[in-house]
Amino acid sequence: MTRTDFVVLGAGPAGLGAAYRLSYLGFRVIVLERQAVVGGLAGSFEFAGQRVDYGSHRLHAATPAPILRLLRARLGDELQQRGRRGRIRIRDRWLAFPPGPAAIARSLPPGFLVRAGLSAAVATVRPRRDRNFAEYVTTGLGRVMGEAFYFPYARKIWGVEPDGLSGEQARRRISADTPWKLARRVSARKQGGRFFYYPAGGFGRIPEVLAEAAVEEGADIRLSTEVAGIRFGDSSVTVATSGGDRIKAGQVWSTIPLTSLAELVETVAGDPTPGVAGIEYRAMLLVYLAVPSGRYTPFDAHYFPDRDIAMTRVSEPKNYRDGPDPPDRTVLCAEIPCSPSDDMWSRTDHELGAMVGDALARCGLEHPRPVEVAVRRLRFAYPVYRIGYEESLTPLIAWADRRRNLVTFGRQGLFAHDNTHHTLAMALAAADAVGRDGRLDHVSWEAARRSFDRHVVED
Ligand SMILES: Cc1cc2nc3c(=O)[nH]c(=O)nc-3n(C[C@H](O)[C@H](O)[C@H](O)COP(=O)(O)OP(=O)(O)OC[C@H]3O[C@@H](n4cnc5c(N)ncnc54)[C@H](O)[C@@H]3O)c2cc1C
Repeated sequence: MTRTDFVVLGAGPAGLGAAYRLSYLGFRVIVLERQAVVGGLAGSFEFAGQRVDYGSHRLHAATPAPILRLLRARLGDELQQRGRRGRIRIRDRWLAFPPGPAAIARSLPPGFLVRAGLSAAVATVRPRRDRNFAEYVTTGLGRVMGEAFYFPYARKIWGVEPDGLSGEQARRRISADTPWKLARRVSARKQGGRFFYYPAGGFGRIPEVLAEAAVEEGADIRLSTEVAGIRFGDSSVTVATSGGDRIKAGQVWSTIPLTSLAELVETVAGDPTPGVAGIEYRAMLLVYLAVPSGRYTPFDAHYFPDRDIAMTRVSEPKNYRDGPDPPDRTVLCAEIPCSPSDDMWSRTDHELGAMVGDALARCGLEHPRPVEVAVRRLRFAYPVYRIGYEESLTPLIAWADRRRNLVTFGRQGLFAHDNTHHTLAMALAAADAVGRDGRLDHVSWEAARRSFDRHVVED
């Protein structure tokens, strides 16, 4: 049986960031990843001669300086700083996204702006209420903004009515949640929301260079290796893999979905695994269209909050970078949140490609007439915070915490809607809580974990 200090489950940014830092600190680390490549949701792959991502991915300007330094040191000039250039379709009109004041004044009907302003003014004099998503938005930004943008968007992204979602979902998802913050964001032209970082070779270069750094420090990354079972002892853990290996470790650090972790851990008498029924993930279809022209539009992404269009966003990876992309073709990636029980989930590539093409044409864009279509299905795309989700999440986290040689973190591991820079911050904070003897300081880890509750997702 192999022995090591740490087994890290999952080679997405969180698992790789932790593996890098723990090996740098001198510990023996083995990473187990079920896919044949590193990256998780933040990975890239090749389609129609181009590197493409799992939906629109950008490294946001809010990335903390130490993480940016680490990535810059590995990526050098490959990490480009880019101005954002997106568009959102609201009430059959296109608006620059993120919008500036001129674009708002030019693109939205004056009657709508007056009603939105009045309803926001009412919100500012009423107390904030947050029992559900709808209430949080209405008492923060006003009902008109909610109904025009946030409510349809919530229904599409999470598949739940806005008053059936927890207020926490809004708090973690809407960074400009008062008229003042919204006005500041709209007017500050140089603010972080207007630029982003992106590697010329695709977003997946970020996890790839983290994996290279971890391996250089001695980490052993085992791809195509699924975790099949985990047994906790008093001072060590045994992890069984799908290939029949058994690895004994001082600690297991998990970034796989909390629900999968609960299924993999051997039950101990007197400490049953809590139910996971309230832990719900939204799935997503990613439909890639290879378009036979140099560029489809000059925009990096188009956003579609309205219900009559199935996708929430369509991105054009070529416009995120100055990269080694072919001059005569481009790729579009449409994101369609759904549930595996929806009929949409099992449609053929051809049907989905045709649906996306037709929807773009209905919005006044040229029909892309794709020469090739590919579809990827993400089962764990977004955590859904339905009202009452805490009743399942809290006992599950407490159950994990009772295993003193288990740390669960990352987007899937903490059931958080977080960005890549957040999950990297989690990984580095966890590694920083490890003493020279390899033990985790549970008090500092708990303090770090509380700070993650303040993460607000960037779009
Ligand atoms: C559509 C979309 C758009 C996004 N856009 C952005 C963006 O613009 N900017 C941004 O910063 N973030 C964005 N994100 C979020 C970003 O993808 C995540 O924050 C990041 O990938 C999370 O990293 P992670 O390591 O926590 O989890 P993951 O990337 O999910 O990694 C978990 C890993 O665990 C592996 N695994 C699961 N089960 C097992 C098992 N049993 N055995 C072994 N391995 C297993 C998985 O294969 C995976 O590799 C977006 C996410 C989505 C879905």
